[in-house]
Amino acid sequence: MIVSDQEKTGLGNYFIANYPPFSFWKPENLPAAVSALHRPPTPGTPLGLYLHIPFCRKRCKFCYFRVYTDKNAGDVQTYTNAILKEVELLARTECVGGRKLDYVYFGGGTPSYLSAAQLQSLMEKLQAILPWDATREVAFECEPGTLQQHKLETLKALGVTRLSLGVENFKPEILQYNGRAHLEVEIHRAYGWARDLGFEQINIDLIAGMVGEDWVNWKDCVRKTIAMSPDSVTVYQMELPYNTVFSKELKVLGNDDLPEHSIADWPTKRAWVRYAFDEFLANGYEMSSAYTVVKGKAKNGFVYRDALWSGADMFGTGVASFGHVNGVHIQNVDTWEKYIDMLSRDEIPLGRALETTPRERLVREMILQLKTGRLSAHYFWAKFGADIFAEFHAGYEKLRDLGLLTLDDTGVSLTADGFLQIDRYLPTFFDPDRVSNRYT
Ligand code: SF4
Repeated sequence: MIVSDQEKTGLGNYFIANYPPFSFWKPENLPAAVSALHRPPTPGTPLGLYLHIPFCRKRCKFCYFRVYTDKNAGDVQTYTNAILKEVELLARTECVGGRKLDYVYFGGGTPSYLSAAQLQSLMEKLQAILPWDATREVAFECEPGTLQQHKLETLKALGVTRLSLGVENFKPEILQYNGRAHLEVEIHRAYGWARDLGFEQINIDLIAGMVGEDWVNWKDCVRKTIAMSPDSVTVYQMELPYNTVFSKELKVLGNDDLPEHSIADWPTKRAWVRYAFDEFLANGYEMSSAYTVVKGKAKNGFVYRDALWSGADMFGTGVASFGHVNGVHIQNVDTWEKYIDMLSRDEIPLGRALETTPRERLVREMILQLKTGRLSAHYFWAKFGADIFAEFHAGYEKLRDLGLLTLDDTGVSLTADGFLQIDRYLPTFFDPDRVSNRYT
């Protein structure tokens, strides 16, 4: 059963991050990736750099990312040397073509797991290879319990503009049961230091539906977040992809039998997100995507997301990292051993790829931009020569009839209901041979 058909929170992915789905990316397509890296870029296409820092203090029970919780300082050094080597190899490819980086994103895992000295060394060496002098944004994900004031000072001095704090919830029992490593006091301390240092944008991530959540606590989480007044708040709905600790427990125990706590169904999670968005909008925020509300400077955009959803190129560096270059989706090899080994031999650590067709690039941008709540018909006509209403009329009419969007001469706008559940309906626009219920 695909997630869009579920009311209970069962196994599978809700969140759609790319198109065609990752399960269609294959090692046998790697020659297309090599060729894409060695072709000049399409003029005017921005270039971004994503760095996957795969270390975490603990594995959260809902996490499906490639992360390691058992690495020491020597391993961190080995990994940062490898990622620097990867960036160096990529910087020599034709697809860079003298382009300046438009944005840099440190994701994970937990980039803030690295010490201030490790971050300073990594970032200075990175900038010597691919300068950041023209970047519009340097974004950095943080786990609150790993931050100290001097680490934040280092990040600010090195040019980080957007900090994202993985708060997820404030209640100690929920954080602990779901495997989060941080404490509430660490959230407030880290946020205060970051605010005092004057980072351009601070985002707080929340998750609606962590195991053990209830209405009283969720309202409390929203109230505390509003009181902190971040520039941006991103609210995810808890999903249960394959290969998480919770999904393994569910397989054994069944959805109703999780020990100690229960997990909310999709209608309840949507009700929680609706409540959160209503509260944020009443407190000066505006919708920026199906997950994010913004105010102040954050209204200017989130460069990484906006560029990626508009077809920018991006080097995805680090183990298991995802990128997109010259129309080809690329993922790196997904084990530590292979990643380190290939870079020790000066090989770009490509793992699997998919060369997209013009039609697939159109669908990809259309479904990703739909998540912003507004699609411009003119944009797709100008970029792809496509009349999206004519080509996808059945899908748009279906979603309009469900009350999820409205159509006018210039484009599409999501309704409040649409914002809450657009991901579950995006497969409506997939070509039939590209429908998959597997994320990986
Ligand atoms: S901190 Fe993030 S990346 Fe690390 S285990 Fe938790 S959810 Fe996964």
